[in-house]
Amino acid sequence: MTLQAEALVPFGGVEPDAAWADEVRRLARQRDAVLLAHNYQLPEIQEIADHTGDSLALSRIAAGSDAATIVFCGVHFMAETAKILSPDKTVLIPDARAGCSLADSITAEQLRAWKAEHPGAVVVSYVNTTAEVKAETDICCTSSNAVDVVASIPEDREVLFCPDQFLGAHVKRITGRRNLHIWAGECHVHAGINGPELAERAAASPDADLFIHPECGCATSALYLAGEGAVEPERVKILSTGDMLHAARETKATSVLVATEVGMLHQLRKAAPEIDFRAVNDRASCRYMKMITPAAMLRSLREGADEVHVDAGTAERARASVRRMIEIGQPGGGE
Ligand code: SF4
Repeated sequence: MTLQAEALVPFGGVEPDAAWADEVRRLARQRDAVLLAHNYQLPEIQEIADHTGDSLALSRIAAGSDAATIVFCGVHFMAETAKILSPDKTVLIPDARAGCSLADSITAEQLRAWKAEHPGAVVVSYVNTTAEVKAETDICCTSSNAVDVVASIPEDREVLFCPDQFLGAHVKRITGRRNLHIWAGECHVHAGINGPELAERAAASPDADLFIHPECGCATSALYLAGEGAVEPERVKILSTGDMLHAARETKATSVLVATEVGMLHQLRKAAPEIDFRAVNDRASCRYMKMITPAAMLRSLREGADEVHVDAGTAERARASVRRMIEIGQPGGGE
């Protein structure tokens, strides 16, 4: 294939046609594999998957599945979480290089140093963290239950919240908790969806609802706009990706501005085809999520690669913090 022709096939050199889909299904049956796809995946990957959803919902499906193999089409920490919850299953990610800038914004070593500065503090980590960071964490949280998790901690205990500063600021505002310390991490995609852009789009579409992920750089601006009366408060909905789908089925609005990664639009449009969903920033695309191409998926199923491993000790400690999150959690959540 020439370079020019390759450029016309943006799926890693493989056209996601009927033959591709048949081959993926055949190989999945052969491996006794369940195919899971995060809401930010390419539409072709979402369509071939057995289940799509947010990171926590997919991990729960993985844990409850009878399949011997889980093919996790998402980023690495998500596949790790599936492995933590299903240690006896083979977990594959079609491209192990699919990382996450938010998960990379704190290491286990940095977290240990932070804990040493605040002895006795309770560590709450968003689920977008590595297995090693989860192992240093008391309770993991999703964007759906972050407020409940922090509220469950006795008032007199300090809380260390990591790694997402926007979600941390949201939790601090809702709980009014002064002894909550926030790590200054962020996701490059969500941080790029900013307040001025949101204000401009909201003003141009005065009847639209605003669906905003709490990791977004504009989440605080949305609440500020609502507080100032620039946008009616009932139009502003701060939601995890899973909750966005519920809200899409329930809203009376005919148009919705969506502030999160653009892959989310595919499931929203399927859930409510009559609504006009538009991205606040249509350049908000996660290059890590898009590493899971149709070609990568075929290779993964053919070669049994890339397999995700978490050492037993780390997995056991991480599992405890993830289980606490599930006890306090709602049915879905996470990114
Ligand atoms: S969109 Fe951001 S938080 Fe989500 S996987 Fe990509 S880098 Fe990580």
